Amino acid sequence: MIKKILIANRGEIACRVIKTAKKMGIKTVSVYSDADKNALHVNMADENFYIGASPVNQSYLVIDKILKAIKDTGSDAVHPGYGFLSENAEFARKLEEIGVTFIGPNAHAIISMGDKITSKKIAIDAGVSCVPGHMGLIESADEAIKISHKIGYPVMIKASAGGGGKGMRIAWTDEEAREGYQSSKNEAANSFGDDRIFIEKFIEQPRHIEIQVLGDKHGNIIYLGERECSIQRRNQKVIEEAPSSFLDEKTRNAMGIESVALAKKVNYDSAGTVEFIVDKDKNFYFLEMNTRLQVEHPVTELITGVDLVEQMIKSANGDILSISQESVKLNGWALESRIYAEDPYRNFLPSIGRIKRYRPPSEGIWKDHVIRNDTGVFEGGEISMYYDPMIAKLCTWGKNRDIAINTMKDALDVFELDGIGHNIPFLQAVYDHDRFKSGNITTAFISEEYPDGFSGAEVNNQHTRRIAAICALMHDITEHRAADISGALPNHERHVPDLWSVEIGGAHYAADINGEEGLRNISIKDPDGGLDTLDMEVLTSWKPGQQLVKAFIDNSRFNFRAKKISEGYKVWHRGCEFKVSVRTPRGAELSKFMLEKIDPDTSNLLLCPMPGVIVSVLVEEGQEIQDGQALAIVEAMKMENTLRAEKQGIVAKLNAKVGDNLAVDDVIMEFETE
Ligand code: ADP
Ligand code: ADP
Ligand code: MG
Repeated sequence: MIKKILIANRGEIACRVIKTAKKMGIKTVSVYSDADKNALHVNMADENFYIGASPVNQSYLVIDKILKAIKDTGSDAVHPGYGFLSENAEFARKLEEIGVTFIGPNAHAIISMGDKITSKKIAIDAGVSCVPGHMGLIESADEAIKISHKIGYPVMIKASAGGGGKGMRIAWTDEEAREGYQSSKNEAANSFGDDRIFIEKFIEQPRHIEIQVLGDKHGNIIYLGERECSIQRRNQKVIEEAPSSFLDEKTRNAMGIESVALAKKVNYDSAGTVEFIVDKDKNFYFLEMNTRLQVEHPVTELITGVDLVEQMIKSANGDILSISQESVKLNGWALESRIYAEDPYRNFLPSIGRIKRYRPPSEGIWKDHVIRNDTGVFEGGEISMYYDPMIAKLCTWGKNRDIAINTMKDALDVFELDGIGHNIPFLQAVYDHDRFKSGNITTAFISEEYPDGFSGAEVNNQHTRRIAAICALMHDITEHRAADISGALPNHERHVPDLWSVEIGGAHYAADINGEEGLRNISIKDPDGGLDTLDMEVLTSWKPGQQLVKAFIDNSRFNFRAKKISEGYKVWHRGCEFKVSVRTPRGAELSKFMLEKIDPDTSNLLLCPMPGVIVSVLVEEGQEIQDGQALAIVEAMKMENTLRAEKQGIVAKLNAKVGDNLAVDDVIMEFETE
């Protein structure tokens, strides 16, 4: 039996693997780079091994360093996680040579499925339906156009070595096919060192649905249902769920049977994923096979009760698969939200820095719901520019999709995360979106529903008035406490009023609070008389200083996050951000005469939105620029981010050049003022 596993990865997936190894009584070794000295995965493992500098090509991607770590720690098996060396056949081979167990499929299966063209040929052989297209390499832009005509627009131009949504372009016209061919080729050469290109039909109104397979070294292979990953931004998954709201039993079984046929064809002997694109008529087409543990594997675990990491370890150890196809039952519904360090209000630009506050919702199994949070970070830790910007994978389970969604919304409401930009407000908006709730989704959901980016969820007036009431109560509690503390004075000398004037999102309310401790009656009046008076019974245990506000309104749970600011609170709830001011009625009168603070005008400056390196400056001084034109490219967190003009103008001055290391809000260039 395997005795000691080295995890050749970092972050949440390293932590995830360590948890199961511990449960199985197996020792664990973590590896770490400079940036990860204090990381959570290092803390959790029994032993640690330093493997070098922070950039991945000097640490996590260097096979020889991992091999040395294995030898020096006497590990007898390696789990590669996802990304990094997980689909590297050379690595799997080298481990085999030194007699160390690779917890993943055999090298032959990795090679066969690692290349999109090769894997499609094998899939066709195995009787799997593939996207119609041209199964050969394309040598020139002219040929790309000719083949696109044969397939019929729209087409998808793809890099054979592609992954992570890179090296992929849609084309609807000859011109786009020509451009797409060139840019896919360049991106593939830069990202994968392999510029082979092929073309297939672009499936319209596509849904991404994938099948989890599991095999052993004795020829047994089963499938564990599907996951739907249609909520994607730029071909990168954001929300996943299992099962899919689109599949019927017949399609599910057909996809499962084809996936098992493909896996058998390459003697697949571990956990793997067969990805399909499904059209509006439920025709499904093979996209690719990922020969590793998938990021979104927890949703499958939640509806099947199978620990996929445990199964991978057992298969690698040579055990016979103990789960039969007939015994696999899909129970309930699970969702996964990828919480990323990226700022949804600034075009999802990556955000890095210290995590000042990190208090995820409590994990647990309750009667009708489950909350699970897979993470690799901790409060006070840092999100660095070197690695993937994923902070956590928050998963929920419920008996049905509605319960899973509501559990997720409640869990996101109480997820305290501060210090860095993050996409929780955006996730909340998606879960509240009618189209998502109805299950009528495609991979174009985000680009169709948020064509101009994200600027906050739609405001719900009912929620706004509840927030107004609770903020008034919070202010009231704070004032009463202050009055009590100034104890030297008799209480009545510092009078705390019962009536507060609340301003939220430009609207004014009068909040009348009755009752002293515990349950309060609050009535919210619209001073302009436009809305009916709203009476509610409010119970909260909130105390000054807390950022999490947990309350019951008329016996239903109502939670949000609030941060104290002068004259009130900044509040986050269901994808909306509010500034709430609470004043005495007299104070509210006076505040009308206060001058509003005006932010300095930065519209004639291009500011660096995140710490990073300038990789190119695309304009010159004196050049006229158009709205939306690319101005400069900044690299941060392994991603190139193009900064674009927000309006037409003329470049007056360049303040930064290629290679400069910039901080947030450093000025990259100045434009002429009108
Ligand atoms: P998935 O289909 O599971 O989202 P992809 O095939 O898109 O996976 O990409 C591979 C996975 O590896 C991604 O989830 C990505 O987050 C992860 N990954 C890719 N590059 C890196 C990296 N440099 N560091 C850490 N993780 C990475
Ligand atoms: P990667 O290796 O980058 O994960 P995939 O081939 O799995 O590449 O494609 C990633 C995503 O791109 C899919 O999930 C899907 O949303 C979209 N996609 C890929 N091929 C097609 C296609 N032929 N038609 C429509 N969408 C596609
Ligand atoms: Mg894929």
